[in-house]
Amino acid sequence: MPLFLPHFNIQKFNTLAVPAMANFFVSVQSDEDLREAIAFSKTEKLPLLVLGGGSNIVLRDDFPGLVLHMKMRGMDLVEENDEFVWLKVAAGENWHGLVEHTLDNGFYGLENLSLIPGSVGAAPIQNIGAYGVELKDVFSELNALNIQSGLMVTFTNESCQFGYRDSIFKQALKDQYIITSVTFKLRKMPRLNLEYPALRAAMAGVPVEEVTPEQVSAAVVAIRQSKLPDPAQIPNVGSFFKNPIIPVAQFEKLQSVFPALVSYPVDTSHVKLAAGWLIDQAGWRGRDVQGVKVHQDQALVLTNPGKLEGKFILELADSVVASVWEKFGVELEMEPRVYP
Ligand SMILES: Cc1cc2nc3c(=O)[nH]c(=O)nc-3n(C[C@H](O)[C@H](O)[C@H](O)COP(=O)(O)OP(=O)(O)OC[C@H]3O[C@@H](n4cnc5c(N)ncnc54)[C@H](O)[C@@H]3O)c2cc1C
Repeated sequence: MPLFLPHFNIQKFNTLAVPAMANFFVSVQSDEDLREAIAFSKTEKLPLLVLGGGSNIVLRDDFPGLVLHMKMRGMDLVEENDEFVWLKVAAGENWHGLVEHTLDNGFYGLENLSLIPGSVGAAPIQNIGAYGVELKDVFSELNALNIQSGLMVTFTNESCQFGYRDSIFKQALKDQYIITSVTFKLRKMPRLNLEYPALRAAMAGVPVEEVTPEQVSAAVVAIRQSKLPDPAQIPNVGSFFKNPIIPVAQFEKLQSVFPALVSYPVDTSHVKLAAGWLIDQAGWRGRDVQGVKVHQDQALVLTNPGKLEGKFILELADSVVASVWEKFGVELEMEPRVYP
């Protein structure tokens, strides 16, 4: 029987270091623990917050329910052929720990996703991505428990409906499933993705055929450490906003007014704008409002150095959204989820 801890401080369990309490907190180590925790929440009529590393949430206030901390561990090679291995990984494993494990074992495909904070179970929720690779590119399937029925369900790549920082678990099936494991399809022979300009630049001078996955991972780690604040030193959740995707016609109009507009093609009718550039141009980079900051080196990141309450972070976020809308007519959407 897992231990249900009442009136529990969750400040250390969110990377924005927001001070907040949960009515109950439970550490879940197995599927059995998970079922007992769900039963407890139903009996006590408590809302659930499924928590991994807490690196993509903003706590607006205390959480009036049960925080279910996913701590299941385990990585198993479940299948292989000449080209691929299928690695099944428990939801509570640390993401970067998984990346290192795959490199140590000669399984390739995760190197561009090095050093993303958080847990394996949260990775499919927003289809994590970085440096030209997304989770969906290496994903085989996942197992998830239906909270209502108690049935364990397998989701394929297609049924997860992955999109840019998006999946079915943020849309039609929001709050209905708890992911217990993810199976990755990884290569035995590396096939490197060096499309991302910063990554290519970091590898300049090394002939492409000589670059190793370990070097790619090391370069990604170095770039990330130079650009993003370490949440252990300066509390943050990485990108606070998604890069907005707009129709080409709107993009062309904007570009005629702002020729330096930073953008990436999406498809024939849509363009993705760099949210960090929009925020910077709206004058927010480096600003401090009530102790919450827009990061000096990357305007897409809001930091909470004073470990203040979530309402201050959300107030700054609202002001940023309003001024980007006013200047560019583009609506920014927050990336982390707000609780309660
Ligand atoms: C410095 C920094 C850099 C970052 N860089 C990137 C990046 O490059 N790319 C990127 O995509 N993200 C990035 N992020 C965001 C974050 O790391 C990812 O979204 C990560 O996957 C969140 O994992 P977590 O375990 O911390 O999730 P949490 O914050 O604990 O949870 C996030 C959401 O997922 C839900 N959830 C968590 N686990 C489960 C589960 N097992 N089943 C069902 N729901 C679950 C939670 O309920 C919550 O809604 C960054 C964050 C930081 C702090």
